[in-house]
Amino acid sequence: MNKPNARMRREDLGPDESLCEYCTAKCCRYFALSIDTPRTFADFEYLRWYLLHDRASLFVEGVTWYLLVHTTCKHLQDDHRCGIYETRPQICRDYTTDQCEYDDTYTYEQYFETPEQIAEYANARFNRPETFRSPRPRLSVLA
Ligand code: SF4
Ligand code: SF4
Repeated sequence: MNKPNARMRREDLGPDESLCEYCTAKCCRYFALSIDTPRTFADFEYLRWYLLHDRASLFVEGVTWYLLVHTTCKHLQDDHRCGIYETRPQICRDYTTDQCEYDDTYTYEQYFETPEQIAEYANARFNRPETFRSPRPRLSVLA
């Protein structure tokens, strides 16, 4: 049976209901890993490389940087339920609806989606306006 489509507000949930019943499994459609804090210009080149890949983004919370990959778990079924519920990993078992992304109101302190964004950030931070950009084509001087 598919999950209901109605948009349930968290505060209206009945005592015996699960918020997940009303969700399209947002938490099963990405993973995020903390990464070393970039400190040098070369470090930001690595971050730019991450963002050259499809579905990769970066976010920062406090002083911690994260690589966020928007990719759906192979075991998420068409009805938005877990296909390996009995053997799902511990991280899935530990995750709760308490502060989950169901409501979608959260915004990151810093969020980078494109290589150009992280390049611009690094350029400003290291005062290197000329780097990361393609060299300007030379104008040929006609004699
Ligand atoms: S934990 Fe939250 S985001 Fe994940 S399926 Fe349940 S309601 Fe959706
Ligand atoms: S194993 Fe199941 S609960 Fe965990 S991410 Fe995949 S579909 Fe979601």
